[in-house]
Amino acid sequence: MAPRYLIETFGCQMNVHDSERMAGLLEQAGYEAALDERDADVVVINTCSVREHAEDKLYTRLGEIRVLGEETGHTPVVAVTGCVAQQEGEALLGATNGRLIDVVLGTQQLRMLPDLVARATSNPFPEVRIDPQNDVSFPLGIARRSDPVKAYVTIIEGCNDHCAFCVVPSTRGAERMRRKGEILDEVREAVASGRREIHLLGQIVNHYRAPDDPGCDFARLLHEVDAVPGVARIRFASPHPRHTSRPLIEAIRDLPRVCKHLHLPVQSGSSRVLAAMRRRHTRDDYLRLVDDVREGIPKIQLSTDMIVGFPGETAADFEDTLSLTRRVGFHSMFSFKYSPRPNTLAGKRLTDDVPETEKTARIVVLQSLQREVQTALHAREVGRVVDVLVDAASRRRRSDVSGRTSGNTVVNLPGDPGWIGRTVPVRIERAGPNSLWGVAAG
Ligand code: SF4
Repeated sequence: MAPRYLIETFGCQMNVHDSERMAGLLEQAGYEAALDERDADVVVINTCSVREHAEDKLYTRLGEIRVLGEETGHTPVVAVTGCVAQQEGEALLGATNGRLIDVVLGTQQLRMLPDLVARATSNPFPEVRIDPQNDVSFPLGIARRSDPVKAYVTIIEGCNDHCAFCVVPSTRGAERMRRKGEILDEVREAVASGRREIHLLGQIVNHYRAPDDPGCDFARLLHEVDAVPGVARIRFASPHPRHTSRPLIEAIRDLPRVCKHLHLPVQSGSSRVLAAMRRRHTRDDYLRLVDDVREGIPKIQLSTDMIVGFPGETAADFEDTLSLTRRVGFHSMFSFKYSPRPNTLAGKRLTDDVPETEKTARIVVLQSLQREVQTALHAREVGRVVDVLVDAASRRRRSDVSGRTSGNTVVNLPGDPGWIGRTVPVRIERAGPNSLWGVAAG
């Protein structure tokens, strides 16, 4: 019987795609997907270290796997991958008394996984591989895509920006651009496998410049992906406000398959805090950009990331965050309390001086304001007919399906799972803070 693997993924889309790649590499090496941890010969925990809480999840899982092993007498090979693996390396073995982990694999060493887990079955000593890699190419036809409708395609790995709160430059390394030819080949491969929506991934996607075509920047790349037959929609994450050019705004406006949604992480509404975060733009720069984007693409929907409680953030700074949130009117927001991270400028140089209780109070106020904003924006959709790319059967009601508008809003409607992958015009009948409800129109 073929050995079985289980991959548990924490964190961002980049990690989800890395897990798809690791699943493909293991299957290419003769492994099969396990039903659950009891059935697994290999458990891969693909970790996230963007916040302390995210890191703690790893230790909890390791403990649970150890207990299960004691109960069942079957302990799988355990590989820890992702950003905590890259960040901690050998130290992870020390943190777990060297007993729970067989393989520690960094974010740039995915291809080593099958060999290392195979060796772990006979090697009593854990192996650690976290050396940086320049090569960002990845063979086609390997990734086991986890979604029937959307396909993640990496265009850039790593980041050189070193925002003061961010672990990414230390966990994913320096910025490396993927060859345009390889990106387009992967888009064609994804379309051939039945995927309709292409998600271009990178830490700062709009900083892209093709190593094999110096004249090709991100706006040009969008044009070339838009021209691939069979692509229905194109999304991308994440752009940086600093690199959002006129040609990019025009590409989003003019290219029919590029979704009219832009995720523009702002992180704070205070120019003083933005400077301390090393975001290299001010509040006014950001608001000017928002106005330019809205003027250029009237139907655009914006979303963002926001941090509260960054070192030194005063009540007045936080008020700036609230007023920017009201002024822009984001359709969605990922908001977090600041937590100091290893190997970051803020973690090393700034005192985490905003009390936890104050951070909690601020996040509650911000999320409640954002909920009001979203509810009001969604209410405007009632009575309209919008195109929805159906991507899932409802977990709540068997007779329902769900999907997203071009603006990235979730829409639920009565429908058949056979509609998954189809774009359906939907008349919106009801709106809530996080999604819409409607019926298929015509
Ligand atoms: S640009 Fe994004 S990924 Fe890069 S350091 Fe800043 S927050 Fe992190």
